[in-house]
Amino acid sequence: MTFAIHGLNVSRGVAIGRAVLVASSRVDVAHYFVQAHEVESEIDRVRMGRNAVIDEIHRLQETITQMGPKEAPHELGALLDVHLMLLQDDDLVGGVKHWITERLYNAEWALTTQLEIIARQFDEMEDEYLRERKADLEQIVERILRAMKGKGSPIVSHPSQRGGRKSSQQDLLLDDTVDVPLILIAHDLSPADMLQFKQSVFAGFITDVGGKTSHTAIVARSMDIPAVVGARLASQLVRQDDWVIIDGDAGVVIVDPSPIILAEYGFKQRQRELERGRLQRLLHTPSVTMDGEKVELLANIEMPEDALVAVKAGAVGVGLFRSEFLFMGRQGRLPGEEEQYQAYKRAVEGMQGLPVTIRTVDVGADKPLDDSLRDDAHLNPALGLRAIRWSLADPAMFLTQLRAILRAAAHGQVHLLVPMLAHAREIRQTLAHLDQARAQLDNRGVAYGPVKLGAMIEIPAAALSLRLFLKYFDFLSIGTNDLIQYTLAIDRADESVAHLYDPLHPAVLRLVADTIAECRAQGKGVSVCGEMAGDVALTRLLLGLGLRSFSMHPAQILAVKQEILRADTSKLTPWAQRVRDAEDPALEMAGS
Ligand code: PEP
Ligand code: MG
Repeated sequence: MTFAIHGLNVSRGVAIGRAVLVASSRVDVAHYFVQAHEVESEIDRVRMGRNAVIDEIHRLQETITQMGPKEAPHELGALLDVHLMLLQDDDLVGGVKHWITERLYNAEWALTTQLEIIARQFDEMEDEYLRERKADLEQIVERILRAMKGKGSPIVSHPSQRGGRKSSQQDLLLDDTVDVPLILIAHDLSPADMLQFKQSVFAGFITDVGGKTSHTAIVARSMDIPAVVGARLASQLVRQDDWVIIDGDAGVVIVDPSPIILAEYGFKQRQRELERGRLQRLLHTPSVTMDGEKVELLANIEMPEDALVAVKAGAVGVGLFRSEFLFMGRQGRLPGEEEQYQAYKRAVEGMQGLPVTIRTVDVGADKPLDDSLRDDAHLNPALGLRAIRWSLADPAMFLTQLRAILRAAAHGQVHLLVPMLAHAREIRQTLAHLDQARAQLDNRGVAYGPVKLGAMIEIPAAALSLRLFLKYFDFLSIGTNDLIQYTLAIDRADESVAHLYDPLHPAVLRLVADTIAECRAQGKGVSVCGEMAGDVALTRLLLGLGLRSFSMHPAQILAVKQEILRADTSKLTPWAQRVRDAEDPALEMAGS
């Protein structure tokens, strides 16, 4: 039966495929397709992993029988019996074989897919004792996965090793077994999960939680694949392998669509491809408004390799390199100076002489270093030890990063950007650390280059202290994602208040407009690097408010450029001021 689930439209486009339900903690197992001739060896890998766990349990049982009842309570033996029974369960073994044979999933993927199916059956059981056996099942699967590691199983996801995907819906319906696009559905995905996901086989994703500018949504946009977040019960309502459509424009998920709906969305998909093709024609067109105002279009990137994508998309530099992605998903082991230097250098070289703005690490809130290190200890991590606060609290880590960035600056134009500053004291401490990092490199006789220094304006206190910021910094970059969050007291990652997250709130517009105006008056560079910069519905407004530098995901550049080419700033300026001063700016924009 067809039904729809509504969420938030965070990444545009249409994806049609089969659902792959994955618990967030299991997203980072490898997801790739094997070749038909590898099916047997893949099944063998699971068998060996399972046998290793069975042997382990047998050994434990022997030890228990040698112990007295005091040291080894009866429950322990009973628990091991349950584990053995689950390991030999036909549903588990047969299901895993099915996914490998029929769908060519790799062993880890097949195992976790089958786990999700059986876990759901456990959830639906009336008997509480049986329901609780789900935890045992999860444990044994985790153990099999661990036993399989080191037996030649890759740890990261690989792109499909098979040929190209079917593009037409007709093909898709004909070939219902393999080679269909897959859509990942999870309760939640952390930014670290998303990094794995970036290289994987999925054509779109859906999560129960998350806001429009949560970092999960931001990474989805950077990958340019359709996504819906905040879809509440999606991970419970959709079943493994259901056909689903993601309408990333409307923020809707359609489950088990009828042939008519499928055909309609297939058409939409092709329209979007055509639109993309048309936009490609603007690649080499200079970004200048109708009245001759030049506008700088920069890229936001997460990994050094994204620099290449940025150049290909026509970016004239990187306006925001979110360096924290180098620090995440490493079980807390931070990258050292050399590793960071090499990464920044790769980004600088990748930009082929164009400037790269490297933001110092911004972990905390919805960007934990690691999923296991999620900040549950503090009541409100978004207001806690995040970004520059975290850096200043760990001077050795901060100095390591500053040295790496300074060294990368010897290879090209580097701008250094500092997130979440609010206090004069923090600014002075940051500058002192920078001096110290230079002195340390001088002492070691290591080469480094000059950097332009910028601050992010993403806390209202900073936007209201512009004179202070302009005294110390060469340029400012407005982080509207956080500026909106902190101005309106809306957690950007919380879907339950997503309707109140409003870039067009008069207070937000006032802070953005004043920052742009003050920088321009003082001849200092200013850009917007939050998601507002890549939203074509806001391009004309930002131009009218005087913005001439936009930083966004590479995939958004050409659509924003199209808006710029059609704009006349001499007309937009008075209009934007009216919008800024209106009681309801959205209404004012819609009416003009
Ligand atoms: C912002 O806050 O607008 C920004 C660009 O930084 P991030 O989204 O990484 O917090
Ligand atoms: Mg921010």
